[in-house]
Amino acid sequence: KKIIIAIDGFSSCGKSTMAKDLAREIGYIYIDSGAMYRAVTLYCIEQGLFDEAGNIDEETLKAHMNDIHISFQLNPETQRPVTYLNGVNVEDRIRSLEVSSHVSPVAALGFVREALVKQQQEMGKEKGIVMDGRDIGTAVFPEAELKIFVTASAEIRAQRRYDELKAKGQEASFEDILRNVEERDRIDQSRAVSPLRKADDAILLDNSYLTIAEQKEWLKTQFEK
Ligand code: C5P
Repeated sequence: KKIIIAIDGFSSCGKSTMAKDLAREIGYIYIDSGAMYRAVTLYCIEQGLFDEAGNIDEETLKAHMNDIHISFQLNPETQRPVTYLNGVNVEDRIRSLEVSSHVSPVAALGFVREALVKQQQEMGKEKGIVMDGRDIGTAVFPEAELKIFVTASAEIRAQRRYDELKAKGQEASFEDILRNVEERDRIDQSRAVSPLRKADDAILLDNSYLTIAEQKEWLKTQFEK
């Protein structure tokens, strides 16, 4: 019987890597809910909905929510999911530090969450999915059969994001990334609508000192239980 697996946790703690690997291994569909918040944020940047101070024009965004279409397609070569915003591949752009620095305030807006959570629940109707994010086990699928909550020290998370961006040729300073990781944690934990927190029935994983292979093994064991 197929189940729903919810993987939540702090920014850049490797949730997506572990979720993707597990999904591929057990033949489930992987859904990156963070990519959806990032795509809405990219839309806001492109439409000039942020002012100099980074405040969002909420009214205009609200009026345009129905014009924002987000979808995922598997890259046939890498077998990795690619994010599309209104038919355009935005996978690389949504990972930029510019989007990372604007995404948490966008994700704190109630009407944005309402729209995206509805789409995420729709995607989960089939079961057999692994979804990662901040509120999957608490708000999107409170009934998920397996919930994991991942964390690691902020410095280690920033270093991982730094390496990831560098590998893609997107340079950013380590200090800027660390500040962004900490700032996102702060906003994600303190927002009014489904703040980031561990669901009571989620299993806690601190992967600060785990290799990707060790983490993979741990997760597989949880699934097989
Ligand atoms: O997971 P990722 O770091 O790509 O998510 C980007 C941002 O989107 C998070 O910092 C958070 O503000 C928001 N997010 C959210 N709820 C989710 C997934 C992501 O609020 N389920």
